[in-house]
Amino acid sequence: MTNQFNTKNYDYLIVGAGPYGTIFAYEAAKRGKRSLIIEKRPYIGGNMHTHTEHGITVHDFGAHIFHTDNTEVWNYIRQFAKFNGYQNQVVANYKGTLYNLPFNMNTFYEMWGTKTPDEAKAEIDRQKKAALSQLGDSEPRNLEEQAISLIGTDIYNKLIKGYTEKQWGRKATELPAFIIKRLPVRFVYDNNYFNHRYQGIPIGGYTQIFENMVNQFPDLIDIQFNQDFFEYKEQYIEEFPRILYTGMIDQFFDYKYGELEYRSLRFEHEVIKSDNYQGNSVINYTDAQTPYTRVMEWKHFDDLADEGYTIITKEYPQEWNRSREAYYPVNDEKNTRIYAKYAKEARQNKQFIFGGRLGQYRYYDMDQVFNAAFNEVRHEFELGDDYKFADDQNA
Ligand code: UDP
Repeated sequence: MTNQFNTKNYDYLIVGAGPYGTIFAYEAAKRGKRSLIIEKRPYIGGNMHTHTEHGITVHDFGAHIFHTDNTEVWNYIRQFAKFNGYQNQVVANYKGTLYNLPFNMNTFYEMWGTKTPDEAKAEIDRQKKAALSQLGDSEPRNLEEQAISLIGTDIYNKLIKGYTEKQWGRKATELPAFIIKRLPVRFVYDNNYFNHRYQGIPIGGYTQIFENMVNQFPDLIDIQFNQDFFEYKEQYIEEFPRILYTGMIDQFFDYKYGELEYRSLRFEHEVIKSDNYQGNSVINYTDAQTPYTRVMEWKHFDDLADEGYTIITKEYPQEWNRSREAYYPVNDEKNTRIYAKYAKEARQNKQFIFGGRLGQYRYYDMDQVFNAAFNEVRHEFELGDDYKFADDQNA
């Protein structure tokens, strides 16, 4: 019987042309292996995809600022694009009053007028004791307790609670504490949103990075867009010796252990005839009423735009359902339990690799996706049978 899909003796089927899948295809090609990538959307790069309009690079799926401490990842990505020296400095708008983010001496001064680290720490300590006396020395059990114990109730109420609850569609008391630990808290006057050593934006956008990977190996990497794995799942499984799957892991297993929860987003882009609309690349709206969480103005990421034009994007969180894009895994206890069952089954199956934010149900940053893909490549090509499930490698 002739193959319908594996027509070129491909070594791999890669489901999803996001960073994980594309890096894997590129590394496999460097080792002489042939891959077919299928992607249900009409473009490469997954949620890192960008496009250019009026000379402005627009991130189609929200602000992607590359930041990492991992020198290998930083050197690797810069093979495929030139990076600028962008540093993310976010402003929060709470009911018309502006505050610097992340939580630092500028924020504390704006909030309380405190001028020294000792004054700020004393204020945070006072608020924390008043709100969390019952917690004693035990660990915060949820995002609300974690936030209050880090920066007190004023900042929690004005800059975190409203934003977090609209972002996730859940009460902060029902969310895992680790989410808020993504944001730095520092007792210096420093508005850099990230703590990492390397940070920047690729000049001209992210799409070129993945195009460059694929274009280096026209004989070894093929991509089919608008192609849904689930339409022909059985045939793909029959025809391909090895499949790297980067979609939702629960869907892959036909939801047999239950449906995992995700959070979705909606973006509204707007071209405006102005040179400077909001004066900053990102402004967060941290109250509960404003329906969007943040507004990006793309020209401020790289200072490139046709004269007289700017483009802004409003980011609206929304409920996820099967007809919408899954952006964030909701890594609470219930979902973690369900995911563990899928991960166990995935680990036992030697034909498949599960990777990326959706395949591993993890709130990965871009650099972590890159690093996880590198680990996968190492296991696949250098360790052979010693193969471990990618989840264990990144613990
Ligand atoms: N967050 C907040 N207020 C803000 C920005 C962030 O409370 O102004 C919280 C919120 O819970 C969010 C988390 O911090 O989900 C992580 O924020 P980050 O900017 O890292 O989220 P991402 O860019 O991944 O959506």
